Amino acid sequence: MPRKSTPRAPLHAAEFRRKLLTWFRRQGRDLPWRRTRDPYRVIVSEFMLQQTQVSRVEGYYHRFLERYPSVEALAGAPAEVVRESWEGLGYYRRAANLHRLAQEVMREHGGVIPADPATLLRLPGVGRYTAGAVASFAYERATPAVDTNVGRVLRRAFHPRLARLGAERRLWETAAAIVPTRGKTAWAFNQAIMELGALVCTARVARCGGCPVRGACKTGRRAAMSPMRPESTMSAL
Ligand code: SF4
Repeated sequence: MPRKSTPRAPLHAAEFRRKLLTWFRRQGRDLPWRRTRDPYRVIVSEFMLQQTQVSRVEGYYHRFLERYPSVEALAGAPAEVVRESWEGLGYYRRAANLHRLAQEVMREHGGVIPADPATLLRLPGVGRYTAGAVASFAYERATPAVDTNVGRVLRRAFHPRLARLGAERRLWETAAAIVPTRGKTAWAFNQAIMELGALVCTARVARCGGCPVRGACKTGRRAAMSPMRPESTMSAL
């Protein structure tokens, strides 16, 4: 995505990026889908992680890939068998969409999962976040990927007073402005900001005291100036 089409990065964005990446290199979890750039494996993990926790997904992810090791194997399986393979994960619509996606990739894209977010967006079950995530995590493109965790971190860090109306657009703009465009750092940045939202800056509590980006975060800086403010009250932001 060309930098000129995005708004200017917010104040402290460079420090935020640098500290976040340093923390992720030391503290990021070793998850199976972080060890691969195979677009099929990445897209399976992204579908499974929609509405399901990491700890539950891990076992299912390995079993599913043993049964359907390629997009071709999944596309060729009967729909009811794919549904059975999803049993226990819930939200079966995801399995149906993933199956349809595999068939469409075989039919329309020669068996290759597209790299372009706009093309990904036209596949079954792929929303804006998943399109960005696959482009970044499989193809290492410098695209933003804003899920609930990332949106919360961006809001607290750069727009703590953001009104609900138009918030989504603003958060995507900020993500596009701060995602690194040099080299392959976007992969690590997108993984890192998700990790921060999952482990430190959670929906329930913002652990600003131990947060690596505290000095570059508006909410964290405010918390540092008001030490009496309980961190759990941050969850309202
Ligand atoms: S300093 Fe606090 S609000 Fe800011 S990103 Fe870290 S945990 Fe979240």
